Amino acid sequence: MRESTDEIRSYQVWNGFDYNLQVWVQDGIILDCNHPQSMKGNGCCKSHSLAGRNILLTPGAEYVVETILIDGICIRK
Ligand SMILES: [Zn+2]
Repeated sequence: MRESTDEIRSYQVWNGFDYNLQVWVQDGIILDCNHPQSMKGNGCCKSHSLAGRNILLTPGAEYVVETILIDGICIRK
């Protein structure tokens, strides 16, 4: 259950999918996409251009207000 649920910290997606930016986040860092290197060279998508950024410092990141606590982890409601 924890694997399929987004973890929220400071109102932003710390582990999970940010719907505003359309990127996956792991431990607060935006993950790179799985596109082939040939596509990445042409600026394939947002995941790639934002990869490695701290989600808390990335403009346009989703602001998640509705959350609940499960097992001490703050997740989307
Ligand atoms: Zn990509």
